[in-house]
Order: sequence, then structure tokens, then C-alpha cells
Amino acid sequence: MRKKIIAGNWKMNKTFEEGMALVTEINGMLRDEYQGSAEVVIIPPFTHVNAVSRMLGDEKNISTGAQNCSNHASGAYTGEVSAAMLYSVGAKYVIIGHSERRQYFMEHNAWLAQKVDAALAGSLLPIYCCGETLEERDSNKHFEVLEAQIKEGLFHLAAEQFSNVVIAYEPVWAIGTGKTASTQQAQEVHAFIRNLVKEKYGDTLAQQTTIQYGGSVKPDNAAELFAASDIDGALVGGAALQSRSFVDIVKAMR
Ligand code: PEP
Repeated sequence: MRKKIIAGNWKMNKTFEEGMALVTEINGMLRDEYQGSAEVVIIPPFTHVNAVSRMLGDEKNISTGAQNCSNHASGAYTGEVSAAMLYSVGAKYVIIGHSERRQYFMEHNAWLAQKVDAALAGSLLPIYCCGETLEERDSNKHFEVLEAQIKEGLFHLAAEQFSNVVIAYEPVWAIGTGKTASTQQAQEVHAFIRNLVKEKYGDTLAQQTTIQYGGSVKPDNAAELFAASDIDGALVGGAALQSRSFVDIVKAMR
């Protein structure tokens, strides 16, 4: 059975004290309330990654991630943070190609392919995001856009490398808007992505690939989304900033 992953992307929110309080609450609530097997990933800003991973220590099924990493291994790149640095402070995952990075920082597929390589070379597991804008969906171009994002960002990898990648489908029109893709819409895209993986790497690897959904996931829509056969968890933004709502989303994954 493939791994189910619920990840909370804090984006540029929470001071250090606020972040520590949130992760303490989440960890305590999960210990008391969650018996399921999904892996939970806390993805705070860079500044908190070290402390969050230390706080979680050897906690079973909870790990730490980062929201971005450099496409370079080291060197004169002021302001950048490498995958190896993040790994050295306890990160296990890194988000690559979040739509906010694509939109505000002009990160395109070829650039993101380099980041995926850098992440893997630095021992991090990439959570590679893809997703169409509203305009692209309305003009029925979404499958074409998604195919290019997946092929250009990931399909240069050898099968063994690809087996370490998590994919997150995040329709841009659903992120932070309160509009969730219907379960049917999300399932349709997830099946499409899994089929692309199957065509490239074969059915066994396609069946093992974790494909998360992201876009206004909340406690009241999570269970329905998670019941779909190709939805393997969620990348959560807004609802991850509050312990109760985040833990309730985790609990929706049985
Ligand atoms: C995200 O940022 O990845 C996200 C899905 O945000 P939200 O849950 O707030 O839509």
C-alpha cells in the first residue's frame, strides 16, 4: 500500500514562539487522538526547521520539511539555502514548485527540475507541486499544463530517483480561496497523473507514488477527498496554522 502523507505548509506565517507553540500542540493532540498510519509533515519557514525537527525528535510518523531549497549544492548564492543544509538540521521533505514560487518568483519547470535534482542529491524527498490556473481550467488546457509540469519537472529522473518523489496536485484556483476542487475533479486529475507516471515508469512505481491533493482542504471536506482511490493525503495551507483544524484533517485519514 502506498504511503499517505498529510503535510502542513505554514508558508510565511508564525514567529518562532508561535511556531513552537503550534507544533507542541499538534504533537500532543496527535499522540492522544490519532491511531492512523498517515505520515504527518510539519513544514515551517526555514528559520524554524531546526527547532521543529529537534522538538519532534524520534516521534513516530511525524517529520519536518522545508518550503523550498536552492538548485545549487553550495557557493556564492546569497540568501539561498541548500538541500544538504536543510537535511543537516533534520528536514526530511522539501516542497518544490509550489504555485506561489511559480507565480511570484518565476520558477518554471526547467528550473524546478534542477531543484528536484538538488533536493535528491541533498538527501531530501521532494514534494513536487503541480496545478493549473482558473483560466487554464476554463479553457480546458489543464491536462496539457499538468502534463508539461510533470514531464518537464520530473521525468528526467531515473526510476530509482523518482521513487523518492511525492507529487502534490494543487489547482491554483483552490489555494487559499476557500474553493476546493470537487472530489471528482481532484480524482480525475490524480488518476491522470498516475497514468502519466505509469506510461513513463511502469505500473508498479505508479501504484507506489504518493499523490497529495492541496487547495483549501479543511476538516469538513478532507474525509471525502481522502476516500477517493488516487488521493493519498493532502498538502494543507491555511488550515495547518491551527492545531485543531490540522489534527482534524489528519484524523480524516483513517
Ligand atoms: C497550499 O499552500 O499548499 C495550500 C493548499 O493552501 P490552502 O490549504 O490554504 O489552500
